Amino acid sequence: MKKLLALICALTAVFCVGCSSSDKPAETAAPTEAVASTVTPEPSATPEPTATPEPTATPTPEPTATPEPTATPEPTPVWEPVFEKEWDVSDVDISWIDPEAKLVAFTFDDGPTKFYDDILNTLEENNMHATFFVWGQQYRDAFKEAMEHVVSAGCEFGNHTWKHPYLTKISAEEIQAEVEQTRALLETFTGKQEFLVRPPYGSANADVKANVFFPMINWSLDTGDWNSGTYDSVYEKLVNVKDGDIVLMHASYKYTYEAVRDVIPVLKEQGFQIVSVSELCKMRGKTLKANAAPLGARVTG
Ligand SMILES: [Zn+2]
Repeated sequence: MKKLLALICALTAVFCVGCSSSDKPAETAAPTEAVASTVTPEPSATPEPTATPEPTATPTPEPTATPEPTATPEPTPVWEPVFEKEWDVSDVDISWIDPEAKLVAFTFDDGPTKFYDDILNTLEENNMHATFFVWGQQYRDAFKEAMEHVVSAGCEFGNHTWKHPYLTKISAEEIQAEVEQTRALLETFTGKQEFLVRPPYGSANADVKANVFFPMINWSLDTGDWNSGTYDSVYEKLVNVKDGDIVLMHASYKYTYEAVRDVIPVLKEQGFQIVSVSELCKMRGKTLKANAAPLGARVTG
């Protein structure tokens, strides 16, 4: 009987152990699931609705004062040649010139050079003008201010071609290109499109006339500064100028500048005013034309 009882106990124990061991996962699993499903998370304190920022008064952009339509500069038209065009002197100011004065036009070729400022300072000190015929290929940035000085001094630019060739020895296309390249350079400094032309060496023929669409200007008096000149030889020529002379000089020589500096007060004493070529022609009513022989005589009206 005891044995039977012990067996029952044993079996029960085994059964129970088996039972509990097989149930164990369920038992252990159950709480987890239960926790998961039942533990309602404390409703986290609903965050105070963050104060919606006052719509910052969106600064209505002041209508920016509509800029006055800046008189849109008319785009400068590309320069175009006009055969035998008359030289326009409507913008040439001659109000400062004494109608009773003897007039002489000083011209300085082959610049820009390092003597531009010296020559211009002398002209400005004496209230005189001149024409500066520019050899385009001589230009470099270092001369920018000297070029601007020509304009601020009220002087005139002229066109002495780009490479300074004999225009009589090159083709029609080359003549036009020589003149155009320097014309375009001078336009950048003045806003003007047209400039008198001095053919290198004063050399022109029918082909040159046909292909230079600006009046050409030579001279009535050559100082010879280019031809073994000296201070004395240049001064001697200058002190003997006559009314209406167009005087050939070069901006390349110090002695030319020095002779000019010293002769100007003397010429003033003699009743001369020194002017640009365009001023001389306007004062004397001399009409210049493009595609014509170079002017090479005194302009006496
Ligand atoms: Zn020259």
